[in-house]
Amino acid sequence: MRYRPLGRTGLTVSMLGYGASPLGGVFGRIDERAGIEAVRVTLELGVNIIDVSPYYGATTAETVLGRALRGVDRASYVLATKVGRYGEAAFDFSAARTVRSVEESLARLGTDHLDLVQCHDIEFGDLDRIIGETLPALARLRDAGKIRFIGVTGYPLAALRRVAAAVPLDTVLSYCRYTLLDRALATAEPEFTARGTAVLNASPLAMGLLSRRGAPDWHPAPPELRRAATAVADLCARRGVDIARVALGFAAAPTRFATTFVGSADAANMARNVRWALSEPDPDLLDDIEKLLTPVRDLAWPSGRPENTPIGEA
Ligand code: NAD
Repeated sequence: MRYRPLGRTGLTVSMLGYGASPLGGVFGRIDERAGIEAVRVTLELGVNIIDVSPYYGATTAETVLGRALRGVDRASYVLATKVGRYGEAAFDFSAARTVRSVEESLARLGTDHLDLVQCHDIEFGDLDRIIGETLPALARLRDAGKIRFIGVTGYPLAALRRVAAAVPLDTVLSYCRYTLLDRALATAEPEFTARGTAVLNASPLAMGLLSRRGAPDWHPAPPELRRAATAVADLCARRGVDIARVALGFAAAPTRFATTFVGSADAANMARNVRWALSEPDPDLLDDIEKLLTPVRDLAWPSGRPENTPIGEA
């Protein structure tokens, strides 16, 4: 495994992070024992940062992750979770709910402190409230020693930029924004880094779009993006390579991101993911993929309140 600094936090994290959303059955039913095994194997392979949220599987992912981490040296991993999102359309960025949410996460995860707490999918909230109420509530929890670092997550980079410019943040996380399909997070990164904010890259497989199984039904990608991803999967299959291998090797490579979160509730998949993240994709195959994807490059889908994504930005 290779390690990188997590911005200015003083922490060092693996360049591949474990995204625990599949433990909540987000991509289909899972066997809890298999999920726990996936976490254990991933940690043994050197991954030392884990991202979760109360939203994943309506608290199930945190509960299963808490069981998986029982008995594991607390100092050996960096644990990140979130506040603010509790269901499909259930957002609550109030200070009171934020404090309660952190207490609940601590109990489910079986720990007395969280390394990173992020406001989850801020584009669905009132950004002024997140700046003026949610983040100050998290800062008080940090002063009380319950959490160490603070960040925000979301899909539209405009919303992340706005909050990062208003409040000092330790991290920002975006997903599906640095993949074979979309490179926008790389363009935005220097602005965050200049503020001392670490950039976390999530969903290198574009939430399953860049896998042989393909995207789940709820996936927000427009049809032309789904078709392009299928064409890439077919091309990779013809060359005898798993599309997930190319997608992961590509997305995890840039050192400008502290880590890239990938998720699976299957230990064998995670062992492959660790290998693939460290492997360089074949340049000829990458060239051919680039040609196929040119017409849909950086095609973003709408997410959250329209006022949080100014026209012409995404
Ligand atoms: P991903 O791109 O990692 O894709 C996950 C899907 O790919 C799952 O269906 C999984 O089973 C499958 N997969 C994983 N490894 C595979 C392999 N080797 N072969 C074939 N299929 C494989 O997307 P993700 O899980 O959404 O993102 C990773 C993590 O990033 C999440 O678990 C979460 O922690 C974080 N994330 C955060 C946000 C947010 O804060 N708003 C959004 C998205 C993701």
